[in-house]
Amino acid sequence: TSALLELEGGRSIEASLVVGADGAQSWVRDAAGIDSHVRPYGQQGVVANFETERGHDAIARQWFRPDGVLALLPLPGNRVSMVWSTWNDAADRLLSMPGDDLEREVETASRHALGALRLITSPRGFPLRLLRVSALVRPRVALIGDAAHNVHPLAGQGVNLGFQDACELAGVLRGRGAQDDCGDYRLLRRYARARSEPVALMQAATDGLQRLFNNPSFGLKWLRNTGLRFTNGIVPLKSFLVEHALG
Ligand SMILES: Cc1cc2nc3c(=O)[nH]c(=O)nc-3n(C[C@H](O)[C@H](O)[C@H](O)COP(=O)(O)OP(=O)(O)OC[C@H]3O[C@@H](n4cnc5c(N)ncnc54)[C@H](O)[C@@H]3O)c2cc1C
Repeated sequence: TSALLELEGGRSIEASLVVGADGAQSWVRDAAGIDSHVRPYGQQGVVANFETERGHDAIARQWFRPDGVLALLPLPGNRVSMVWSTWNDAADRLLSMPGDDLEREVETASRHALGALRLITSPRGFPLRLLRVSALVRPRVALIGDAAHNVHPLAGQGVNLGFQDACELAGVLRGRGAQDDCGDYRLLRRYARARSEPVALMQAATDGLQRLFNNPSFGLKWLRNTGLRFTNGIVPLKSFLVEHALG
């Protein structure tokens, strides 16, 4: 009638429900025996923060390039967070170059949109992958966030998906009525049913965009060069991404 978690220090916690919100390498997911299927994209997201010469006006900017997608996301003040999703060899090159070379490389790739850039954190690379799980719930266990799904960051939807999981799970638990066991499997399956379609749709959308923008055989240089103008033209796809970005 309860789940028991044994912590490293010897302490244990007994609870009706364990929510696995422990990220892509989720221990909870493994401990619950939930299988995950991983498809590596062969790319890394190279992440670093920069100080910018010009103000970003709170605008997130992306450039769709032959070698991947560069994003400069606004931070407070004249600072931005870079996510450059690119093939492993290109990512290794970015990660191994001296800081001032990286500054020049990003200035050029971003067409000097924010003027001169000054690197303020060490760049780090994160392998990008599509991760699907065989189940979102088990008796007394529910997965949320990256423990439940990983998507390519090109549409900036990872955090939103996780927030939506948390909202849905909280709603199901709040609305459980006479059922006072919040780890009850039938109750948790309501959460799983509600989330499976939106998560699968977002995975398909981001995976499809990733293939489109990264497949040289499409010969869509013009498409990359015009960025998301194509997505803007596909009204249902644009509405889908905007709707999900707004939650
Ligand atoms: C390169 C890159 C760029 C991205 N860019 C974007 C973007 O622009 N927009 C966007 O929306 N999303 C983006 N994402 C995705 C986003 O980062 C994730 O979707 C989001 O961080 C998932 O949140 P989470 O809380 O589920 O997992 P995490 O952020 O991974 O948090 C999990 C937490 O659990 C803790 N934890 C793990 N194991 C244990 C343990 N055994 N005991 C205790 N604590 C533990 C970890 O320390 C961590 O604090 C990006 C991802 C990558 C890799």
